[in-house]
Amino acid sequence: MLQLSNLRLELSEAPEQLRYKAAKRLGVRPEELRECVLTRQSIDARKKQDVHLVCSVKVSLEREAAILRRAPKGVTPLEERPYALPAVTRRSPLPPVVVGMGPAGLFAALTLAQGGQRPIVLERGADVDTRTADVERFWSGSPVNPSSNVQFGEGGAGTFSDGKLTTGIHDPRIAHVFQTFTAHGAPADIQWSHKPHIGTDVLRDVVRSLRMEILRLGGEVRFGHQLVGLTAKGAQLHAIEVCGGGIHYTLPCDTLVLAPGHSARDTFQMLLEQGLPMERKSFAIGVRIEHSQAAVSQAQFGPAWEQLPAADYKLACHLPSGRSAFTFCVCPGGEVVAAASAPGQVVTNGMSHRARDGSNINGGFLVGVSPDDFGGDDPLAGVRFQEQWEQAAWALSGGTGHAPAPLVGDFLRHTPSTGP
Ligand SMILES: Cc1cc2nc3c(=O)[nH]c(=O)nc-3n(C[C@H](O)[C@H](O)[C@H](O)COP(=O)(O)OP(=O)(O)OC[C@H]3O[C@@H](n4cnc5c(N)ncnc54)[C@H](O)[C@@H]3O)c2cc1C
Repeated sequence: MLQLSNLRLELSEAPEQLRYKAAKRLGVRPEELRECVLTRQSIDARKKQDVHLVCSVKVSLEREAAILRRAPKGVTPLEERPYALPAVTRRSPLPPVVVGMGPAGLFAALTLAQGGQRPIVLERGADVDTRTADVERFWSGSPVNPSSNVQFGEGGAGTFSDGKLTTGIHDPRIAHVFQTFTAHGAPADIQWSHKPHIGTDVLRDVVRSLRMEILRLGGEVRFGHQLVGLTAKGAQLHAIEVCGGGIHYTLPCDTLVLAPGHSARDTFQMLLEQGLPMERKSFAIGVRIEHSQAAVSQAQFGPAWEQLPAADYKLACHLPSGRSAFTFCVCPGGEVVAAASAPGQVVTNGMSHRARDGSNINGGFLVGVSPDDFGGDDPLAGVRFQEQWEQAAWALSGGTGHAPAPLVGDFLRHTPSTGP
């Protein structure tokens, strides 16, 4: 197998042209390629009059070694090492328990189920369909449902978001995760896109399908069941306390995967009180900024912008003080949504559909904060800090829960905006 990088594809050219371009680069006939698969695609818009795609493909053919000896430019040997699940060595009569059904919990449960472990998944929120109805009600003006909302429920906090799959790490499991998503209904282009994106509409189907797979493999999913306590002797876990189905019950358990996400503050408090080691860490807070998508796409792609997907952008500024301000989770063609999980707070998120065809783009515009900003040495001081800002935003909303939304110019001038 050979990897060919930096193949240029014009916007007007069909992806099938890559086979011809690859063959030409290798000095062989196109029909000699047994396989030619797109592995990476990005947009080169550095010159606005010459916007094109830059692609990598993997090919297999006879005489690969001989071709490599000629050392054609941009051709390297490719050794594919598909991710293999580690062997399961756990021996216990008790099923492992996974708390939370966000991306972390879903994949933990799926992996355990694939290893023959028949996990029990506890999710305090609802299944994705019930949850979608709860969230729609909240966005239509009903009070937030503390157990089924934009943060809590099947699929976790990412279900009502942009559904982008960008990561700064290199890990062989990334390809495995993408293949799993595709096998459960995500678009195939996440396998090669430089900026893979699923979209909230498709993601809901994907998480439902992942749940069905966990069930098919013998796992069990309990929606509306919340972990509320642990029973341990020394370092050995014996049981967990669960509230669900209208009762409080004890579940014998010696293996617990905690995947409760960012927002389960009551769970963090309970775990702290139970003596789990915890430490404060830096994070980022800020606002969402929204602009016209057409203006951003034109600025990024020039005259070709209408032939291309909605553009995004990335900005960062590192101040002499050591603090950084940066954009995060830019959401092309999407919308800003209310994302609170408890009453009396305002939290926002960016969300987009697969088509990313909304008229606006929005992005988080954040500043890094560290334990020095929180004060105190309580491990949950950062959580209190978050709450303080979320409650201040609530107060500013006049108790409506509508995020205060000034125009950028007014915000910078410290004057309130008028009008709708
Ligand atoms: C406000 C906000 C905005 C974000 N915006 C974006 C974005 O725009 N784009 C992006 O890519 N990422 C965004 N993220 C990050 C992204 O959502 C997370 O990285 C991702 O969801 C983390 O996955 P997870 O599985 O660890 O946790 P989560 O997805 O948070 O899932 C945790 C699950 O655990 C459940 N749970 C919690 N406590 C218990 C308990 N005691 N018992 C049972 N179940 C429990 C919750 O109901 C939830 O379903 C955002 C996060 C937040 C909080």
